[in-house]
Amino acid sequence: MKINSCPLCRSKNIKILWNDKIRIGKKFSKKKYEILKCINCDVGYLKDRQSFLEDNKIFRKIFDGDNSVLKYQSFNRPREIKKIKKIQNLINFKNKSVLESNCGAASILDYLKKDAKLTAGLDSSIYRSHVEKKHLFFSNLEDLRVSKYKFDLIISLAELEHKKNPLNFIRQLKKNLKAKGKIIFRVPNFNNIYMYLIGIDFLRFDFRLSHNFYFNEKSLDYIFKKLNMKVVYKGGLQEYNINHLIEYMKIGKRVKGLYEEIIPKRKFKVIEKNIERHMLSTSLLYIVSLK
Ligand SMILES: [Zn+2]
Repeated sequence: MKINSCPLCRSKNIKILWNDKIRIGKKFSKKKYEILKCINCDVGYLKDRQSFLEDNKIFRKIFDGDNSVLKYQSFNRPREIKKIKKIQNLINFKNKSVLESNCGAASILDYLKKDAKLTAGLDSSIYRSHVEKKHLFFSNLEDLRVSKYKFDLIISLAELEHKKNPLNFIRQLKKNLKAKGKIIFRVPNFNNIYMYLIGIDFLRFDFRLSHNFYFNEKSLDYIFKKLNMKVVYKGGLQEYNINHLIEYMKIGKRVKGLYEEIIPKRKFKVIEKNIERHMLSTSLLYIVSLK
């Protein structure tokens, strides 16, 4: 079998991580997909990377079932607000110009608007009329580039893993970043505690058509080094409580609905902190700047 070189580091030292059905939304694929792992930079990736994942009009319709503003707000808003509150502990948005890539119906931008000096969103044109009521809007990276706007802060959450070429995507964002600006990435962490404790019963649900890439601390460090960017902050971001993990271990499949409260709530915080401190959380948060 011919194996192409790693899309990030070009190494030919590649192994096969998975060659089986993967998840498409709530169902599984009929055919097998190969997911490869680069031994050099440690990134995982879908062998046949999909470019339609970059179009949120198509993407959200397939994977969220709907791409309307209403759906976005009911599904994403509470989750997004919770995450931005965590990010606010690390970054001050006051009087900053902020661009959010992958902004959807602008839940986060709406939330930041009272503090920020300027708010702008980048996403599929289907969100334009809604987002433009309150914020600047760009429907693609080319629009953004020709606008010549430069931002203090650029936010990209749950986006990098969908890109066909994450290096080019970050290079484009850099062009619209001020000299002392920062980009904030939230990326799913492949090397998370579920993967280590549950193994295959986690992976068979984790591998999905909607992700071109599977990042971890090593591969993210590699990307930013390669792009000559400075990692100002990196840390874990744990999105589920410990009882969710225990339930998953018990039933051996994705947890739906309610689950038992084995560990009391008052213990959540310290457990969450420990998971995050060791970069074993479900997501990683990186804040990077130009060098
Ligand atoms: Zn590589």
